[in-house]
Amino acid sequence: MATALFTKARKRLKEAAKHLDIHPDVIERLKYPKETLAATLVVRMDDGSSKAFKAWRCRYDDTRGPTKGGIRYHPRVNLDEIMTLAFWMTFKCAVAGLPFGGAKGGVQVDTKTLSKTELERLSRAYIQAFARFIGPDRDIPAPDMYTNGIVMAWMADEYAAMVDQPSPAVITGKPIPLGGSLGRDDATGRGGHLVLRHLEGELGLSPATSRIVLQGFGNASYHCARLLHADGYRIIGLSDSRSAVYDPDGIDPVAAMEHKRDKHSLAGCPSKGKLREITNEELLESECDVLIPAALENQIILENAPNIKARVILELANGPTSPAADKVLNQAGKTVIPDILANSGGVTVSYFEWVQNKAGYYWPLDEVRAKLKSIIEPETRTIWEAAQERGLDMRTAAYVHGLRRIAAAVEAHGTKAYFDS
Ligand code: NAD
Repeated sequence: MATALFTKARKRLKEAAKHLDIHPDVIERLKYPKETLAATLVVRMDDGSSKAFKAWRCRYDDTRGPTKGGIRYHPRVNLDEIMTLAFWMTFKCAVAGLPFGGAKGGVQVDTKTLSKTELERLSRAYIQAFARFIGPDRDIPAPDMYTNGIVMAWMADEYAAMVDQPSPAVITGKPIPLGGSLGRDDATGRGGHLVLRHLEGELGLSPATSRIVLQGFGNASYHCARLLHADGYRIIGLSDSRSAVYDPDGIDPVAAMEHKRDKHSLAGCPSKGKLREITNEELLESECDVLIPAALENQIILENAPNIKARVILELANGPTSPAADKVLNQAGKTVIPDILANSGGVTVSYFEWVQNKAGYYWPLDEVRAKLKSIIEPETRTIWEAAQERGLDMRTAAYVHGLRRIAAAVEAHGTKAYFDS
């Protein structure tokens, strides 16, 4: 099993530990995932044939509570990636102060090749395979790339059938009529928007003057772009898996999304000036103030990091910057707002959904948004100030902040020092 991504990700742990006085037991606990289950999902296709898909679920650490993390459908998803994403989720939940550990799941599939009925059978098969591994008080999945509300609805329904009772708290990101939370649909993008706006003054950004480029025009980036555009920020570049467009005069993300839904491409979407079609590589390196990677891991790497022109990188995707690229960006004086803070709005509102499901009491939208803000802003401030005071980059400061909380939970069970005394 290749573990390149995981090995690199885990180095953050040692780096963060250098800045804290924590017990070695904590590092031992966080070295490897707590448990991982692999399965093969054999699905009946519409033409009558059977097809096998590789699938995984990894629960990284549950010291702080049940594990939480999305399920990704992608043709290149693999165990290394799932373990890494579960590791990042552990830190993200700790950074946001949520009573959860981290997990992640995935199926190796290109959803664009499946019919809707095949997608439903695949999603139900996932739950049949992993029902004993997940649970409302054990491990709570959610959407990730190429999974959405209806996939969560099928999964929650399959789980309910297997345990013979409705169990809405087993999964988050559900449609509203099935126990979803108001405000979950745009929570990741909104969280990123809150973080950026909260640090705007410190970062020398302003709606009137700053230009923004987003890679991966999906759920997370669309809502972030929409909110920033509504504030007056100029969105000048967008991309998805098939197309990338750039117009220095500005693109209205709402009109661009309507165009994408209609034409399945961003090419030719309405814009203020002269829209140019560029490559995804050019998009990342284009002239702008804020670059928002919101697609996949490892998009900013050693090779293209020196060419990144943005002063601020807001990581809405998980792991878009490789550690080597991170060093280059930091040395160049750029600010990277790390994924475990920048995209934590999604899991925060997922937590709210779980709380509402457990209580059977549902909150109005303004309450969800106010609660999101009341979590994101203070955590952002704490991480920013720790970075300034200790002379750390924001990623290291965020890992130190999360590790301190995880360490407190591990140490509360007693450490060697306690048992020796
Ligand atoms: P999504 O499926 O809604 O959108 C993904 C977008 O990325 C699509 O527009 C797709 O076309 C594009 N894309 C795929 N490959 C690409 C490539 N090679 N180059 C450019 N664009 C590409 O997914 P999402 O939910 O918006 O998730 C995006 C990222 O945000 C992922 O890294 C995910 O883990 C992270 N994230 C999402 C949430 C959430 O709540 N949705 C929460 C936290 C983190």
